[in-house]
Amino acid sequence: RAKRAGGNRVEPFQPAFRSFGADRLQLETDLRRAIERKELTLVYQPIVRLADAEIAGFEALMRWDHPKRGTVPPTEFIPIAETSDLIGPLGIFALERASSDLVHWQQYAGDVPIFVSVNLSSAQLLNNELYSDMRAILAKTQCQPSQIKLELTESMVMENPEQARLVLDKLKEIGMGLALDDFGTGYSSLAYLTRFPFDTIKIDQTLVRDGGAKRPILLRSIISMARDLDMQVVAEGIETEEDAIELGKLGCNFGQSYFFGAPIGGDSVLRLLKERFPLTKRA
Ligand code: C2E
Ligand code: MG
Ligand code: MG
Ligand code: MG
Repeated sequence: RAKRAGGNRVEPFQPAFRSFGADRLQLETDLRRAIERKELTLVYQPIVRLADAEIAGFEALMRWDHPKRGTVPPTEFIPIAETSDLIGPLGIFALERASSDLVHWQQYAGDVPIFVSVNLSSAQLLNNELYSDMRAILAKTQCQPSQIKLELTESMVMENPEQARLVLDKLKEIGMGLALDDFGTGYSSLAYLTRFPFDTIKIDQTLVRDGGAKRPILLRSIISMARDLDMQVVAEGIETEEDAIELGKLGCNFGQSYFFGAPIGGDSVLRLLKERFPLTKRA
């Protein structure tokens, strides 16, 4: 191609990392403005009780509606935020928005408490302000601590187990839910993880979808161990009704996957709750 363009002329060498670096820098600059420009949003994916197929709660998942790039997935911008000072404000945004959305929704769900889970980053866990930030958000939004579940991964906890335990114990003490996310992708030592006050484990979709012959054995032992430890289990990535039935029989409490419902906007959540609880009067 370079040759066709002009005889012997060779196009300037563009190392891939250079454009990648510039792109990353641009994204970081854009991300810095995204919060004030209200380009960051949360979508909510239903978490469904396997016993009766009712919605028990939602996981808040962040999206960035970029004016030029369209919707940027969190896997692209969360890592950027984590290596800059942006993860702090992003994390607060998610916790505050999810809490206030939940308080609003609950007025339509009447006496049936729903919950919302929010993903944390390791920087938030290791930051000494998480507990006081959380208290401030709960006070401001008037959200019940028991209706918010914080999702953390094993690797986040292992980065600094002492600090993690200190913070998680305090959050548990005020009644917040704590879920161990991506279970089955790391070392996954449930025995070790009992030192932390998790009340829920989320089995990663890679494990749920694993077609191997040992899959039922793995799932059965994870679920029965979790139940013996008084933990609830959410299975991610369920794709078929058979899988849902199988996991339900094994004692898994909840499912969360496209099969049960893709992430939706807060408005759609409200519409869904109004349909399900038509008689609930607003406060
Ligand atoms: P996660 O916490 O494990 O969230 C589940 C991811 O699986 C979500 O991707 C969800 O859309 C996707 N998913 C759900 N059901 C299915 C399914 O049936 N099939 C497939 N293939 N995927 C499914 P998403 O929204 O792109 O989020 C990716 C990751 O980004 C999350 O993984 C979480 O680690 C992180 N993340 C999302 N929002 C936040 C946030 O507000 N803060 C932080 N720190 N991390 C976030
Ligand atoms: Mg999660
Ligand atoms: Mg997960
Ligand atoms: Mg995950």
